[in-house]
Amino acid sequence: MNQQISNHWADITANRIIKECGEKEIYTLASGITPSGVVHFGNFRETITVDMVARALRDRGKKVRFFFSWDDYDTFRKIPKNMPKQEELTKYLFHPIVDTPDPFGRDESYAAHHEKNYEGQLHRVDIYPEPIYQAEKYKNGHYKEEIKKALKNRDAIVTILNKHRTEPLADSWMPISVYCEKCNRDKTDSNVKYDGDHHLSYTCDLCNHQGTLDLNTTSLVKLPWRVDWPMRWVYEKVDFEPGGKDHSSEGGSFSTAKEIVNIFGGKAPLYLQYEFVSIKGGAGKMSSSSGEVVTLEDVLKIYEPEIIRWIFASYRSNVEFSISFDLDVLKTYEDFDRQERLAFGVEAGNEGKVAIAKRVYQLSTVGGMPDSMPFQPSFRHLCNVLQTNDGNIEKAKEFYKDEIKNERDQRRFLERSNCALYWIENYAPEDFKFSLNKTPVPLEMDETQKIFLSKLKGYLTEHFDKIKDDKELHEKIYEFINELKAKDESLDPGHLFSILYKILISKEKGPKLASFIRLIGKNKVLELLSGYDLN
Ligand SMILES: [Zn+2]
Repeated sequence: MNQQISNHWADITANRIIKECGEKEIYTLASGITPSGVVHFGNFRETITVDMVARALRDRGKKVRFFFSWDDYDTFRKIPKNMPKQEELTKYLFHPIVDTPDPFGRDESYAAHHEKNYEGQLHRVDIYPEPIYQAEKYKNGHYKEEIKKALKNRDAIVTILNKHRTEPLADSWMPISVYCEKCNRDKTDSNVKYDGDHHLSYTCDLCNHQGTLDLNTTSLVKLPWRVDWPMRWVYEKVDFEPGGKDHSSEGGSFSTAKEIVNIFGGKAPLYLQYEFVSIKGGAGKMSSSSGEVVTLEDVLKIYEPEIIRWIFASYRSNVEFSISFDLDVLKTYEDFDRQERLAFGVEAGNEGKVAIAKRVYQLSTVGGMPDSMPFQPSFRHLCNVLQTNDGNIEKAKEFYKDEIKNERDQRRFLERSNCALYWIENYAPEDFKFSLNKTPVPLEMDETQKIFLSKLKGYLTEHFDKIKDDKELHEKIYEFINELKAKDESLDPGHLFSILYKILISKEKGPKLASFIRLIGKNKVLELLSGYDLN
């Protein structure tokens, strides 16, 4: 479809960026997070919002720079409950996150640990932003002129910030924070003096150290968030950056940054507010300071990468939604599969619907658009195939061997199978789970049940290999039931089904019988039926 006229939010935003910024050699898109703990799934909405707009711009033949700012020179203010070595971490409170050790002992710092995890997860959903590590920038003096600018314009910044505050900032407030040379903590707020040129003096509230810093050479000064953000827009020439609700309110950091940005000689980028996203069914609230955190990695255990992208592409960015971990997972997979069929013209739909499905699908692909319609094992059926095969993916693959045609299909099968197994294990309702009986189990049954099973067994022995499809077997089963019903009107078919499920999986209910019997296969079904005296 023609992306220029698509009314997908990513396309609308891309068009706005081009219109407002004019024709440019390169468009700069930004996103960022403070790695103060595990980067949770709520944060992902910002990243993928930028990624989709970047795709839309590239689809228009534009060059895009998408950078991701890791605010790792921020202060370690709070120890999340889900971190190991709490006591050790306590020693690093008020230090830069980048100088706090990794409590997992894997990476060079606490910050690096969370940064690497998130970057790795992003790559799995085909998102490759250019990371900028702010600690490196600050420590290497990249922002020294900007820091001086902020200090020289201290009063103007205070005026802007005070407009949105009920309590005005203290007379001693400065638009910077200083990490103490002696103890590396940032409790110096009330005692900073600026000489108007390039020297600062401070007294540390915690260790009483008194020091003087040369702004041309120091690595210990940083701008606070509300000043840092607009500084960076100008420094990196940002054209677009979205923000969550928390930044977007009146008096929030976006509204003050929009004014402070003038001090640095630039203007605010095009902004898009995105709504929250939550998890439905079996997951706690998303906050990096609480113990319960859902990450992109957790969601990738339930959904294929394309489907995660597709969910975000399907909702307008200003709409709040939740991602399901419960039984609705089946519906989400079905919905995605239908849209994929519409996008490939395998299923018919009206023109408008098909156009939307195509565009949303393009924005959802991982590793480019597939050449042909990918293999689609229904998630529900795949769950049954896997469980029938004791969760063995290789054995389950046999069932689909004629449908898996290329590497793309192979990847779909593996990813979907792993998701299905994880979901069954962790989130599926009890009545969805089963395991096939290895040998016949002792069972009591009445005459009617015996007659029914005997008819079915006879039929399967004779005809199993000739059954065309599930429908044929389904109709046959009902033929037997109706024969019995003719003799006893009050007969409940459930009474007959339940004995069969007990024989197969020791449960009252299970997957639809006709397809289930065919899935299990002739030998196994007859072996289980032969354990009972039916005559
Ligand atoms: Zn100190």
